[in-house]
Amino acid sequence: MEKVDVLIVGAGPAGSSCAAIIAKAGFSVTVIEKKLSIGEPIQCAEYIPKLFLNELNIKRNFISNEISSMKTFINFNESSEMKSPGYLIDRKIMDRSLCLDAIREGAKLIIGSKAETFENGCILVKTKDGNNSYLPRIIVGADGPLSTVGRWIHSRNRAFVNTYQIELYKKGEVNSTKIYFFDECPAGYGWVFPKKETFNVGVGVGVSFKKNPINVLDYFLEKLHLRKTDGIRLTKGLIPSGGILDTVVRDNVVLVGDAAGLVHSITGAGIPQAVISGKMAGRIIVKSLKNNDIEILKGYDLEVLEQWGDYIGTSQRKREYMEKYWGKENLHDIIINTWVAYKEYYQES
Ligand SMILES: Cc1cc2nc3c(=O)[nH]c(=O)nc-3n(C[C@H](O)[C@H](O)[C@H](O)COP(=O)(O)OP(=O)(O)OC[C@H]3O[C@@H](n4cnc5c(N)ncnc54)[C@H](O)[C@@H]3O)c2cc1C
Repeated sequence: MEKVDVLIVGAGPAGSSCAAIIAKAGFSVTVIEKKLSIGEPIQCAEYIPKLFLNELNIKRNFISNEISSMKTFINFNESSEMKSPGYLIDRKIMDRSLCLDAIREGAKLIIGSKAETFENGCILVKTKDGNNSYLPRIIVGADGPLSTVGRWIHSRNRAFVNTYQIELYKKGEVNSTKIYFFDECPAGYGWVFPKKETFNVGVGVGVSFKKNPINVLDYFLEKLHLRKTDGIRLTKGLIPSGGILDTVVRDNVVLVGDAAGLVHSITGAGIPQAVISGKMAGRIIVKSLKNNDIEILKGYDLEVLEQWGDYIGTSQRKREYMEKYWGKENLHDIIINTWVAYKEYYQES
């Protein structure tokens, strides 16, 4: 059994950002990642807001395309255009850069290893070559929407948007993202996000509506006169949509990023919260280790609420409204009330 100061499960943006801070402070940190290759497969539409770039102290070679505005369509009619400065990025390069940064600071990364069980403070990790066990002082769940660490502390995401996306070759306008709300895509939307030479075209549907996103994407492509045969990559994945979990820290276990439900319930954006919560948790963990006081970890809960309580809380209420009235009220009225491009979003309904 290996003793470590911190064991982090998951080497996405949240886990790597957390690991870099802890390793830099001189504590031993091991990151467990079940994938064989960091950043792949990409499960992301790859948009980040411009301001978020300041949070990333890594080489900026992951930027693919600059975005200036977002256009919204309701039942395929253009309804609004708003300023939305940001970038389409290459998620694989970004995730790898964050991971390399953590390794450079001294974190240990074990790819192809899956955290399985947690008993008496000990974590069992399965790898191809056999099992390892770890006895960490602190555990970080950075393991995404269906967090295993969250299961151990009985705190998991329960509501999701189910997505399906294709990256395809397409000519055309390159500086706007396009969002499509249409009846066939319940409590979700379709998106067309332009990268340098390709477009991410995808759909997300509220899981409670039990609609297969593969069929919705086929319909969406047909409506936009796009061909699946121009595609170079298919992606699927769940996005948590139920808001911040009630418990993000319990005893010596801390949840970050998607594992903590830190996703905007309407837009599905979670990269900024993953990086920022990873760093936030990292700083509190360092303080707790330095003072040898686990109680200090409780401060993370408050910081999370201060930072995102309103932002994610509002999005969660808007999602509840959207799910309740989808298919019952006029689509235009629902979207005006629940989508971030309209002033009504910022007024309570
Ligand atoms: C289709 C789609 C489009 C999206 N588009 C955007 C977008 O444009 N902009 C945006 O801001 N957000 C977007 N998001 C959300 C964004 O991708 C997530 O919020 C972000 O990846 C969260 O980072 P994370 O580090 O918390 O989790 P993840 O990136 O999910 O990383 C978790 C890691 O944990 C690993 N793991 C899981 N379980 C275990 C285990 N038991 N043992 C070891 N390792 C484990 C996983 O393999 C994974 O590498 C999108 C999501 C989807 C699905």
